[in-house]
Amino acid sequence: MSERPGLKQVEARKSLGQHFLFDPNILKRTALAAGPVTGRTVIEVGPGPGGLTRALLDEGASRVITVEADERFSSALLDWPEKATGRLHVHAGDARKVNWENLVEHAASELPIMIIANLPYNVGTPLLVDWLKAGDWRGEMGLMFQKEVAERICAKPGEKHYGRLAVLSQAVAKTHIAFTLPPGAFRPPPKVDSAVAVLQPLPKDQRFDDLETLEAVTATAFGQRRKMLRASLKSFAKANRIDLQEWLAASEIDPEARPETLDQTAFRRLARYASTSR
Ligand code: SAM
Repeated sequence: MSERPGLKQVEARKSLGQHFLFDPNILKRTALAAGPVTGRTVIEVGPGPGGLTRALLDEGASRVITVEADERFSSALLDWPEKATGRLHVHAGDARKVNWENLVEHAASELPIMIIANLPYNVGTPLLVDWLKAGDWRGEMGLMFQKEVAERICAKPGEKHYGRLAVLSQAVAKTHIAFTLPPGAFRPPPKVDSAVAVLQPLPKDQRFDDLETLEAVTATAFGQRRKMLRASLKSFAKANRIDLQEWLAASEIDPEARPETLDQTAFRRLARYASTSR
């Protein structure tokens, strides 16, 4: 793996969640966590000094589309030979403002696109939710988060971290944690452990496509996670002019159940009824 001289010395910006990886083995494991990248187009948010970008290119990605908010890094990437040959796209700017559909249409020919990234902690979750809602262009994702966020994505009913993010993620993907890393693996080290969550898209006929309603229902249910559903869903039912009792009965939900006991199919029933009644 070739490494750009000098970039290790760049001062990390805390406000941009900068914790860099330089170990080639860890970078390769991250690049391949969601499966082979050979011949695939990959989006990478936050390439930073480019260790993961280099690993993705070395492992055979046909194209890597980077989105980086720190212009010290985006401008350094412009000098890479793969930029000249078209294998590397550099988008300088805030990933939260990217129109992913447009970016994909403009830059890519092979669909679906993988998303592989060591995400900045402050924007990782909203980006993931945007991607979960994305269309068929989005393929496998291998995303490094704070370990707790990765656990929230992969949790099952009854587990400590089960909530909105698990239900939304598992509505469209099969999820697992590929591996965890201690703070010392990064420079500078973050305060907590990190983990790579892998999301493999479900076949189309197994996906739940109304994520907007599912998001609204889970946000209400888990917003008051200690309450029984007949209490926590009351405000949602009222706001959407849904008869709460009928809603719970038609969705085969025990009114006294708490949200963490409901599985994916139960939340889907609640969301389906709510979307047809709204
Ligand atoms: N991929 C590199 C690595 O693994 O060493 C860097 C990962 S670092 C955790 C996160 C990167 O995301 C930084 O390079 C940071 O500048 C960038 N970043 C932070 N906020 C961003 C945003 N809103 N849009 C795009 N990039 C962002």
